[in-house]
Amino acid sequence: MAGKTTARGTPLFKVRRSRVHGRGVFAARRIRKGTRIVEYLGDRVSHREADQRYADRDERDNHTFLFIVDARTVIDAGVGGNDARFINHSCNPNCETVIEARRVFIEALRTIQPGEELHYDYQLGRSRDDPPDVDEIYACRCGQANCRGTMLWPPKKKAKGRTTAGAQRGRRSTSEPAGATPAAKRKRASRPVR
Ligand SMILES: [Zn+2]
Repeated sequence: MAGKTTARGTPLFKVRRSRVHGRGVFAARRIRKGTRIVEYLGDRVSHREADQRYADRDERDNHTFLFIVDARTVIDAGVGGNDARFINHSCNPNCETVIEARRVFIEALRTIQPGEELHYDYQLGRSRDDPPDVDEIYACRCGQANCRGTMLWPPKKKAKGRTTAGAQRGRRSTSEPAGATPAAKRKRASRPVR
């Protein structure tokens, strides 16, 4: 699978097995800081629709291809997604997600050398009805010195000096359909909070 190509015809990245988690996306050539590498594509659905799609999924299954665009829209890369869905999480990422005109792009936070795995911080939201061991379910194995140990964003009270827009996305909303099984909610990635 090849990504965006350059004038010389070499794709910027390729997908192969990762030591971190399943498949991963790796730089196929040097990627300069600030490069827009790939768009996060998939089916654009409401939060409610995303929940309904994955309501039957085991809550201990930590795979998620959902990305929050805003309060209205989630991108489900499990349907019509591209290679961007294979980019793994890291607590010390070399990429970041940027939302522009309600589209999500993955950009290089620094210059990335060929062969390096690409990753961004998923910042998965927390929710009141998460199981007690939710941090174990979403355990991070990025191996970075600053690893939080979880792909979830820190609890609000610990996120000092930051806005928590991303972290709040996982909360119950009043539009919750009656009878929904809250514990079965799929986690969603969100854009970096600055
Ligand atoms: Zn980590």
